[in-house]
Amino acid sequence: MKIKADFTGIESALSAIGGVTANIGQIRNTKQIRNPIELQIIEQGSIVLSGAELVEHLSTTAGLLSIGETQITLHIFDPFEEEESLSEKPARKTRFHVSECKTIEDMRDKGRGNRYVSSARHDGLFEVRPYSNLTHTRGDKMEAFLQPCHNCLTALNYEKYTEMKTKAGRSEVIRKFELEKFFEDFKSIFRCLPIYTSETFPEGDYPDDWARRSWETRNDSSWVCSCCEIDCSDNTGLLHTHHIDGNRGNVRLSNLEVVCVACHKARPFHGAMYYPPNIKMKLENLRVSQKLPRICSKCKI
Ligand SMILES: [Zn+2]
Ligand SMILES: [Zn+2]
Ligand SMILES: [Zn+2]
Ligand SMILES: [Zn+2]
Repeated sequence: MKIKADFTGIESALSAIGGVTANIGQIRNTKQIRNPIELQIIEQGSIVLSGAELVEHLSTTAGLLSIGETQITLHIFDPFEEEESLSEKPARKTRFHVSECKTIEDMRDKGRGNRYVSSARHDGLFEVRPYSNLTHTRGDKMEAFLQPCHNCLTALNYEKYTEMKTKAGRSEVIRKFELEKFFEDFKSIFRCLPIYTSETFPEGDYPDDWARRSWETRNDSSWVCSCCEIDCSDNTGLLHTHHIDGNRGNVRLSNLEVVCVACHKARPFHGAMYYPPNIKMKLENLRVSQKLPRICSKCKI
């Protein structure tokens, strides 16, 4: 798919005020994904990878685990946990990871002998093979309900995890953790990626703690768009954190603007941003249900 848009007006207006011009990257679609591992994850939901394969393909985006431009979770395929304990809801020992925590760092250094499951599933179920302490053998593959890793939640300060004063408070965040919502909360980071390509991006890239900063900035704004005032607290994926100067490395609060996907698309150079008709309809209906104009009065979108 190729989008034709004329940006000459914006560009000449911008150069008149001394702004930076950048080429606009194309919208990514699955056909443009080159990495076969990433394609398999998108198509199958999850795949088992050896530690060495994982080290080769794993990247972090804004502090979140990803393969290519797809956000993933990781866990060990063959944990040393019995079937009985893995069948509990949640499983007692095995955890899944969402960020570059200590465990994942260790894996990069010395965990290449293990096998991992890279998953983009949102249902909270994870493929594992249980271990029998009695026979020292592996049982059949099963699906376990796993909880997120403590270090990952700490790195992201997800749902203010690190600010919880008591162990009970932290346990509560873990207990309430929903993978579906987690992916939704950070969807905008991945959806924003295709706005620029690495070659055309003016300067700067997301810092490693961008996922945490973006979540906190939007949470501090009560998940409300600062432009059209739509409340996205039940649709967190519709709310983005925009860099006013276009530099994704500039994360000073004065450079950040919390805007909904529509108002974001109206920002300079964001014309190619991902905003399909179903999302547009969802957002406009949400505005109407909140007694707001269907179209933002400032952005006309
Ligand atoms: Zn972790
Ligand atoms: Zn808005
Ligand atoms: Zn932006
Ligand atoms: Zn607006």
